[in-house]
Amino acid sequence: MTSPSHKALVPFVSVDHMMRLINHIGLAPMMLGICDRIEADFHRWPLFDKTPRVASHSDVGVIELMPTSDGDVYGFKYVNGHPGNTKDGLQTVTAFGLLSDVANGYPVLFSEMTILTALRTAATSALAARVLAPKGATVMAMIGNGAQSEFQSIAMQAIVGITEVRLYDVDPAATAKCARNLQASGLKVVSCTSAEEAILGAHIITTCTADKQYATILTDNMVGAGVHLNAIGGDCPGKTELAPAILHRADIFVEYPEQTRIEGEIQQLDADHPVTEFWEVLTGTAKGRTDAKQITLFDSVGFAIEDFSALCYVRDAIKGTDFFTPLDMLADPDDPRDLFGMVARAK
Ligand code: NAD
Repeated sequence: MTSPSHKALVPFVSVDHMMRLINHIGLAPMMLGICDRIEADFHRWPLFDKTPRVASHSDVGVIELMPTSDGDVYGFKYVNGHPGNTKDGLQTVTAFGLLSDVANGYPVLFSEMTILTALRTAATSALAARVLAPKGATVMAMIGNGAQSEFQSIAMQAIVGITEVRLYDVDPAATAKCARNLQASGLKVVSCTSAEEAILGAHIITTCTADKQYATILTDNMVGAGVHLNAIGGDCPGKTELAPAILHRADIFVEYPEQTRIEGEIQQLDADHPVTEFWEVLTGTAKGRTDAKQITLFDSVGFAIEDFSALCYVRDAIKGTDFFTPLDMLADPDDPRDLFGMVARAK
């Protein structure tokens, strides 16, 4: 990692920069790049500092900090989850994050992460599905057609090879929005009026709804043999999407068990219910899908290493571009011990 510049200016990637970066690289190639980065970092999983995220809960939502470090680079994300926000015209999930140099603690990147979270979540879902979904999976049901849904669909197309997405949301306006946005994607898009209709013929079922309760988006009878479940929306204590009976029939893959047991679908199970850490499937130390009839479940909650990987991708991608603003966010007096003098001279 390069040392900070003399003036300790920190590259800041705004929402506008992020949108320009994505449109410059292309959404699918960027999610592929982030997916590769996450896969590479999952291969060196034991090296990272890991902790369940630090959550501050309220009746209406949660605010969380997600830190990690690989020993050279430290990163964290600030993220919220407020399912009631959209009725006030606000996002359910917003985020920003930072990377810094472990050698001196100076930040080296500060970035918006509301959009980047959608990309990294979709890239992680697709990475898991590429490994766990039945061979030749081409049809995905997408239940919950909010902010994450198009990113999920396009990542599954680019990384897993799906050709058809079947949409359902309790709010038909969300489904119409998602269908419109996916029109030019090359996917066959089928808008459905119930979750039952959406899952017809689906090899992958993604649940990506937002509701702070033990919701039942899928009941046991809706999940047939051989399906891969990608459960995104159950990511907080008291916020789940799947009927417990499904969990008892599925082989469950998680990011970081210590966090998922608190936040994921498996909060509904006994604390010793067996789960497989997904990184171990990637490294070959644990088994993934072993037969065509098996139900696989990626109980996704979102883990700090995925954000770290995405931020490292952005740090490298903005080099040589103007997709950032140098930000004066660190006081850096010429004499490091004369912080007071610097303030006094600025009068
Ligand atoms: P959003 O509010 O934009 O969209 C959620 C959609 O779910 C809305 O359109 C809503 O109408 C729909 N919905 C609610 N209840 C439903 C039901 N019973 N059946 C069908 N649809 C229903 O939210 P978003 O940004 O798309 O996020 C979706 C969920 O994913 C949230 O719960 C969020 O916390 C979670 N999330 C998880 C990760 C992760 O890494 N696992 C990352 C980002 C977001």
